[in-house]
Amino acid sequence: MDEPADTGGARTAETRGQEPRRWEVHPPRPSVPRSFQNRLTIAFLGIVALTLALVAPVVVNRLDDFFRQQEQQALQAHAEATAAILERFIVDTVGTKAVVAEMNGKLELNPAVKSLLTTDRLLDLAANTLALADLTVEFGAARLDTDGVLVVNPDPGLTFVTLLTATATLDQRRDPVITPAHATVARTNMARDWGMEVTLSNPYTSRARTLAAITGLLLAMAMAAMLIAVIAASLIAHRFAQPIIRLTDASRRLAEGNLASRVATEDGTGTLEVQVLAEQWNTMAARLEESVGIIRRDRDLSRDFLADVSHELRTPIAATRTFIELLQGPAGLDPAARTEFLDASAVQLDRLDWLAQNLLELSKLDSGLVLLDLRPDDVRGTVESAVEQQRTMAERKGIALSVTLPDRPLRISHDSPRLGQVVGNLVGNAIKFTPRGGEVHVSAKREADGGVRIEVADSGAGIHPAELPRIFERFYRGSAANEARGTGSGLGLAIVKSIVDMHHGTISVESRVGHGTRFTVVLPRDPGEMASADPPARRQRRRKPPTTGSGVKVDDSSPTLSSARNGAPSP
Ligand code: ADP
Repeated sequence: MDEPADTGGARTAETRGQEPRRWEVHPPRPSVPRSFQNRLTIAFLGIVALTLALVAPVVVNRLDDFFRQQEQQALQAHAEATAAILERFIVDTVGTKAVVAEMNGKLELNPAVKSLLTTDRLLDLAANTLALADLTVEFGAARLDTDGVLVVNPDPGLTFVTLLTATATLDQRRDPVITPAHATVARTNMARDWGMEVTLSNPYTSRARTLAAITGLLLAMAMAAMLIAVIAASLIAHRFAQPIIRLTDASRRLAEGNLASRVATEDGTGTLEVQVLAEQWNTMAARLEESVGIIRRDRDLSRDFLADVSHELRTPIAATRTFIELLQGPAGLDPAARTEFLDASAVQLDRLDWLAQNLLELSKLDSGLVLLDLRPDDVRGTVESAVEQQRTMAERKGIALSVTLPDRPLRISHDSPRLGQVVGNLVGNAIKFTPRGGEVHVSAKREADGGVRIEVADSGAGIHPAELPRIFERFYRGSAANEARGTGSGLGLAIVKSIVDMHHGTISVESRVGHGTRFTVVLPRDPGEMASADPPARRQRRRKPPTTGSGVKVDDSSPTLSSARNGAPSP
């Protein structure tokens, strides 16, 4: 039971390398219970024991007082009864004669009375059957006191002491604690007023036995209470400790690297505070798992990105090196071959330059170094000029490039050169992937919420459904055999998406193989407003992989491959 609480031992501060953090567990000190459950049980037990220790003596004491009072009253009643009966016998015996008489200056008891008391064993009878106590009877003359009350003046010479000799019943004991009880009789007699004082002491009582029985019962009840307390306390403590044990287990699993570890909170056990703690812990664990996931994803993406960059740069460098080696050989002496190799080298160097520019652009966009210059301008101008820049290429390829723009200005807050880059890239791709005689159509219109929708549609080759979710990935190029696909860098759409993201817009694509592709960019009326309303969402969006991040929707409208629609995960 001690185990869970012991995990709270000192931790090592070791954080070197990738090693999971270790927890040092000190062995528990043997005499001190360290678990919450044990401590709670002992605390319960302690409280019950203390209560019993305080209450039991008081109860026994009060009962003793009560019984003593009862016995005292009983002894007094017995004394009075004994006195009354003795008087009755004495009066019957003496008749009109004196009970006590003075002889030779000394008080004497009537011989008949004396014989009744001693020889006839009346006193024995009274002590052993009626009083059940040692009996002392003192006789004396009676006289009126100043208040006119008849009082006895007991004579020490007329004292009769009879000890109790009757056998006690099972529960009776001599009880010296009881104070002796006195009963006085003072009577007027024709011969001489007389009186006697009856004293009962050291009686038989069942007080001690009753008290012992009650104390024993109390002791048994206390033991039973302690036992119940132990069972109840350990059950309650177990119930209290269970959520904490679960929390400790989950923490241990988390420390061991199981980031999916959570504490069960729905079973309703545990106090509200522990429940809240468990929920907070789960929230913390979920955040940790999410953060580690993001870091891992970022790390994987960076690794892939680096590999892709190396690969992309190697091709033009290798080609250039080959041309230089050729130029150093006999081919360098042939003017025609030299011109051809130098031209080819220039093309490769242009490609290298272009790649480097794109990479720089993408890394600046990604790292947040690029700040948009947002101005409330008319989008129509931006779209028109971006399209016009591509017109020469379209004409060269024999592609009909058209634009449809509304008559009224489409004024939204945007970074015109960057948006021009988006449209230019999309139109450039559309021309690139559309065969001669095809069409590329660009349009822009106002959205119901005040934003702007820009569409770039072509009648080109289309994109295979399996490729659709990946086209926004860096360095991703379509695999279908098409001469145009051999050219690009695979960075264009990644840059487009980054710029759209920075505008808090969305980009989606619909495509049907052999029929064409349509890219739709939707921009909000004021990206600055959205950024201040939702900065964390923006940050998060930047971290997600480009294919599945918010702001991208892929749609394959191919009638044969409808299963790959809408954001299918990257293969
Ligand atoms: P690239 O430099 O290769 O054009 P992009 O990132 O711009 O890189 O595009 C990625 C891939 O998306 C392209 O290689 C191509 O397969 C596909 N793609 C982009 N636009 C179109 C389009 N209009 N029609 C068909 N395929 C397209």
